[in-house]
Amino acid sequence: MEKSAGRRVGEPTEASVLAEVRAWLEASWSADYGLVEWRNKLIDSGWGVPSWPKGWYGRELPMALELVVEEEFNRIGAVGVAKTGIRRLAAATLLAHGSDWQKEKFLRRSLTGEDTWCQLFSEPGSGSDLAGALTRAEFKGNRWVINGQKLWTTSAHHADWGLLLARTDWSVPKHQGLSFFILDMRQPGVEVRPLRQMNGHASFNQVFFTDAEVPPEQLVAEVGSGWTAATTTLMHERRGADGLRTWGKGSDRKGRIYDEERAEIATVMEPYKWYPQRAGRVDLVLERAKATGRNSDPVVRQEIAKLLTLAKAAEWTALRARAAQLQGRPQGPEGSLGKLVASQVARAAARVHTLITGADAMLSGEDGPMNGLIAEILVSVPAVSIAGGTDEIQRNIIAERVLQMPKEPRSDNDRPFRDVPKNVVS
Ligand SMILES: Cc1cc2nc3c(=O)[nH]c(=O)nc-3n(C[C@H](O)[C@H](O)[C@H](O)COP(=O)(O)OP(=O)(O)OC[C@H]3O[C@@H](n4cnc5c(N)ncnc54)[C@H](O)[C@@H]3O)c2cc1C
Repeated sequence: MEKSAGRRVGEPTEASVLAEVRAWLEASWSADYGLVEWRNKLIDSGWGVPSWPKGWYGRELPMALELVVEEEFNRIGAVGVAKTGIRRLAAATLLAHGSDWQKEKFLRRSLTGEDTWCQLFSEPGSGSDLAGALTRAEFKGNRWVINGQKLWTTSAHHADWGLLLARTDWSVPKHQGLSFFILDMRQPGVEVRPLRQMNGHASFNQVFFTDAEVPPEQLVAEVGSGWTAATTTLMHERRGADGLRTWGKGSDRKGRIYDEERAEIATVMEPYKWYPQRAGRVDLVLERAKATGRNSDPVVRQEIAKLLTLAKAAEWTALRARAAQLQGRPQGPEGSLGKLVASQVARAAARVHTLITGADAMLSGEDGPMNGLIAEILVSVPAVSIAGGTDEIQRNIIAERVLQMPKEPRSDNDRPFRDVPKNVVS
């Protein structure tokens, strides 16, 4: 095929994509649309998720060109598809492993924002050891019947659907006996109980299944291949944990569609509103040091300098990983480091906030510094080193997969899961 400047003739370029999306938006966009009405139009055009496959609402553009499209949407204030919350992970997992029927039923409504999702992976006895899940799925009559319990399920209290990892076979080693399901959260067999965290928020839940039902067409991929599908979900979750993600924010423009989008974001992002605090709020450190006069203390200055250096290095490392991804190159080790470094930055930031604020940092509520925000940082930061895989688990992954060190000794991978000793009744 003919080539020009390393590119195939006819291949989209930044300029051609920009011209095409601009022309489409000029002809199509109006703030008078209803949110779902507009998003359906957008999905049909292929400009809502331009990097997705052509058969599934996309244009197969490289990620770097998707950014060009996003910038044009931002420039003119056009609303995009729904991307907040677990729906991002659900869409990525179903695109990779779902059947055509599942893609047809779930992808569009996820993009329009009509459906919300949660991730039913962790259990009381299996968080780090996710493959040790005990929730069981048995095929009875014409459907799967689910019994067991999940824990830490963010957003389960307002989710329509859950990505469920459950055990279907106890006679094989643990990773091989798991299957992946799409579970209807709004059925009598599912009970969601919110948990209150030490920072006062209640963003995650316990979820109990008592003969909950899943129709056979909502089994994702093959029976026994649940671990592979779950790994896809986790990979996308960890990729978003590098500190670069911007939290869903509505536009402040006026108009019906913006009002509807703000209302959607307020609901979906409610469980995540403390997430900036859990990242340590490095952005507040200098401002606080100046406001309190602590910027003249040499020890405090030194600690602030260390923190800002670490945070900047982490940001640049994450940007390198992101750039590799945008260019379609495999991520190097920096992709695995992002999550671990994000927790180091958060912990260092909490320490510096304490140095600056002193004992008052413990005052929560309106009486506390910044209306209790500093106290919220201190009690939210520990979550970063747990959510989406703990620091120790990230270190194991880096040691084994990046540094190619010998695998951690295991005694539970080579025998039927039913024979593996457990600390809970199965
Ligand atoms: C804010 C937040 C939101 C979350 N949202 C969800 C959600 O939506 N859905 C969901 O399914 N889960 C969710 N989780 C759960 C999260 O994935 C688990 O908490 C996490 O994987 C750790 O599991 P665990 O809590 O059972 O800890 P455990 O696995 O019991 O770990 C306890 C300690 O032992 C260490 N440890 C365990 N195994 C090893 C090992 N092999 N080597 C070295 N050390 C080890 C751990 O690092 C940790 O320090 C969320 C958690 C948080 C904090």
